[in-house]
Amino acid sequence: MTESTLTLPTGNWPEIKPGWVWLCGAGPGDPGLMTMHAVNALRQADVIVYDALVAPEILEWARDDAEKIYAGKRGGKPSAKQIDISLTLVELAQQGKRVMRLKGGDPFVFGRGGEEAQTLIQHGINVRIVPGISAGIGGLAYAGIPVTHRDVNQAVTFVTGHDQTGEATKTLDWDALSRASGVLVIYMGMKHAPSIRAGLLGAGREMDEPVAIVSQATTPNQKVLETTLGAMLDDIANTEMGPPAIICVGRSVLMRQVLDWQALERGEKPRNLDPLGRGKPAELRD
Ligand code: SAH
Repeated sequence: MTESTLTLPTGNWPEIKPGWVWLCGAGPGDPGLMTMHAVNALRQADVIVYDALVAPEILEWARDDAEKIYAGKRGGKPSAKQIDISLTLVELAQQGKRVMRLKGGDPFVFGRGGEEAQTLIQHGINVRIVPGISAGIGGLAYAGIPVTHRDVNQAVTFVTGHDQTGEATKTLDWDALSRASGVLVIYMGMKHAPSIRAGLLGAGREMDEPVAIVSQATTPNQKVLETTLGAMLDDIANTEMGPPAIICVGRSVLMRQVLDWQALERGEKPRNLDPLGRGKPAELRD
C-alpha cells in the first residue's frame, strides 16, 4: 500500500478497519471545506465510491493505488440506482476493503446517506458517519449570505425542490413553510423554480421578497444571482448559471450587500453597510 502524502495534525486519528464503510461529506466544492475526519479517511481508504458533486481535486488526495468508483450522474446518463450503489458498498466491505463513501455536502442532507447507511447496517456492515458542510449553509456563506440573522429569522428551513420521482414536490405545504420560516433554502430547486415561486407567492410572500441563487458555490465558477420572487424567472432565463444551484428566499439575502467578502477580497467596497436598516453598528447594540 502506498502512503498518502496528506498530513494531519498530530492526534489519535481513527483507523478505517477492513470491512468498514465510512460515509463522508466532501463539503460543497472547495476542498478546504472537507473535515479532518474526511481527510483522514481519504488517506487510508482502499476504495472510494464518490458522487458527481465531489470536486476532482479532492480525489487526487487519495492514495495512488486507491480504487475510485464513480457512482453518480454524468453526461446525461441515468444515475446509478440507489440500491446498486448501496449493494456495491456492501460487496466492497464484504471483500474486507476499507471503504470510503464520499458524497457532496453533508451525507445526511438530501443525499440519501441515511438509506445507504441503513442498507449497510442491515447487511451487518459497520459504518462511521463523517458529516460535511452542506451547500445550503456553506455555499450561502461563500456568497456572503448568513442563513440566520437575528433581525430576519428565528428559523431556517431546508427544502428539496423535487421529490423521489423528480417531480415538483407536491407534499410541501407552502403556507406552513412560509409562515414558519423567514428564510427558505431550497436544494434541487432550479428545474421547478416556477412552481416553487408560485407556491411561495400563493402563500403570501411578497413579489419584492429577496431571492439569491448561488450556483457552483465555493468553486472557482461560483455565480450569484440576486433577484426577487417577482423577477426570479426572467432573471434566471437571462443568466448563465450551471448546476448545481441553491435558492435562498428571505431578507437575509440583503446581507450580501455588506457581506460579499469575495468582492471585498477583489478590492470592491461594500455596496451598503447597513442593508437591513439596523441603524447603529452591531457592536453598539445589545
Ligand atoms: N448532500 C448535499 C446535497 C445533495 S442534493 C449537501 O449537503 O450539500 C444536490 C443539491 O445540492 C443540488 O441540486 C444543489 O441544490 C445543492 N448543491 C450541492 N452542491 C452545491 C454547490 N456547490 N453549489 C450550489 N448548490 C449545491
